[in-house]
This record gives sequence, structure tokens and C-alpha cells, in this order.
Amino acid sequence: MAEAMDSISCSICLEILKDPVTIPCGHNYCMDCIKCYWDQLLVCNCPQCRQTFTPRPVLNKNTVMADLVETLTEINTKKMQEVRHKAAVGDSEGLSKMKVVSLPEPNTREEFLKCE
Ligand SMILES: [Zn+2]
Ligand SMILES: [Zn+2]
Repeated sequence: MAEAMDSISCSICLEILKDPVTIPCGHNYCMDCIKCYWDQLLVCNCPQCRQTFTPRPVLNKNTVMADLVETLTEINTKKMQEVRHKAAVGDSEGLSKMKVVSLPEPNTREEFLKCE
């Protein structure tokens, strides 16, 4: 999971990718981050692998990556909520379940026949 979260974070802002774009070397960055980064350079390069690109590549939003980011952040949020929920509920959930189990059993069929 940590690795998956790594692959959807931007190495420029170190945040989860926002409008992810994939540059020709295969690395992903936020659209805004890589644009700002390249605006400061004479020759566009990848901040991670230092591969240079001439002319400046056209940046298109990677929709597959955007979906992945959405899915992974959603899973992560849900997990965090689950953990928080479990911590808040504690053992009380387990106790109520035990009460249900220890309720008296209804009369068995055998007893019913004896009464007749
Ligand atoms: Zn970024
Ligand atoms: Zn790269």
C-alpha cells in the first residue's frame, strides 16, 4: 500500500498527484508542478531521472493515473475512517455480540414432543 501511495505522489511537491501528467520518461507529476518547473529551465528535464526533452513535450492529463489516484486516495480515506471507527467503538461491539449469543435457547423440538 505504501508503494502504491508512493507511485501516485509527485516528487516536486511531495503531495498526492493533482491533475497527473506523465512525461515522456514515464514519471508522473502534477500538471502545475511540472509546468512551473519547466518554466524555470532552458531545457526541459525530468526532476527524477534527469532525462532531457526537446522540444518541450505537450502535457496531457493522464486520465488512467487520475483514476488511480482517486481510487487509492479513496481507499486510504476509508481505511483511516475504519481505523478511527474501530478505535472509537473499542470492545463494546464485541460485548453486544456476546450478549446475543448467550440469550436462552428457544425450546427444542424434543421437549415439545415430550409435552404432547
Ligand atoms: Zn506536485
Ligand atoms: Zn523521469
